[in-house]
Amino acid sequence: MSAKFNIGVDLGGTDIKVAVVDCFGHVLHSDCVPTEAHRGYGHTINNIIKSINNILQRNNLDISQINSVGVGCPGMVDPATGLVKFLPNIPGWINIELADIIEKELELKAALDNDVRCAALGEHSFGAGKGYNNIVCLTVGTGIGSGIILNGKLIRGANSSAGEIGHMILQETGGLFCGCGGAGCFETLASGPSIVEMAERYILGGKSSKYRELAGDGAITPEIVAKAAGFGDEVAKTIFKTAGYWIGIALTNVVNLLNPEIIIIGGGVAKCGDLLLDPIRKTVQEKALKTATEKLEIVQAKLGNDAGVIGASLLVCSNNQEKNACTAG
Ligand SMILES: [Zn+2]
Repeated sequence: MSAKFNIGVDLGGTDIKVAVVDCFGHVLHSDCVPTEAHRGYGHTINNIIKSINNILQRNNLDISQINSVGVGCPGMVDPATGLVKFLPNIPGWINIELADIIEKELELKAALDNDVRCAALGEHSFGAGKGYNNIVCLTVGTGIGSGIILNGKLIRGANSSAGEIGHMILQETGGLFCGCGGAGCFETLASGPSIVEMAERYILGGKSSKYRELAGDGAITPEIVAKAAGFGDEVAKTIFKTAGYWIGIALTNVVNLLNPEIIIIGGGVAKCGDLLLDPIRKTVQEKALKTATEKLEIVQAKLGNDAGVIGASLLVCSNNQEKNACTAG
């Protein structure tokens, strides 16, 4: 019997999503287990293996029905060797041969890549990027990252670090410090935490703040600021205009450099929709070269939280160009 399904794993700092995905990008079954990074990488890998076994057992699937396993990792990886080099938000993950370990444990082909490139693969094959060959997929959440597909091919670069757009320097002097050790990075101007920081600064400055009222005793989040904007709060609207402007500036550079047909914006903050997308579109239209924007669309991601697992499920196929193995049989 030919294998019909792939397993996609989205490894996060807090939890791990595991999904059985068919060849049409449908998530058939999924599971979420804690990462428990403080217990060491061996424990986290065990959680991944256990979760895969559980999901198969619970759904009466035999391992022979699975073609491959792909893992999206939040950090630096070497997809060619299946090595996790460094995960900034998961302590202890340095030079871990994750693909090899999974292959030995499950006797299945395994591959890995970084999580944003997985999301880009997912959106390209089954989401907002379907039918396009030149795509930039931007994720705006706790950090900012991108996955780039040019002429239909995922771009990884010489050392698999292509797409680190969050560290594009937008303020050459006087910028805020960034987690990468530099200052003035794009990520310090428009990520989820920087939206919250802007919101808090406006409160300190004595500006009206509907979002403080909406947050009650809890923390202010980008979603709450977006909600306040929905109620007409001018400060909240200004915050999104500012974040959208900076994203637009970064994307103007990307558009002039790569001439994509479509830019797909995903990640937690992108759920705020046109509130964020409108100032991005306006800035890119105003500032990018006209020839580079003639065919350009800027849209919201379609696959939501599933983009990572769906893209990860495609990794072995896309790496080996084993298109036949991806055909439902
Ligand atoms: Zn940085």
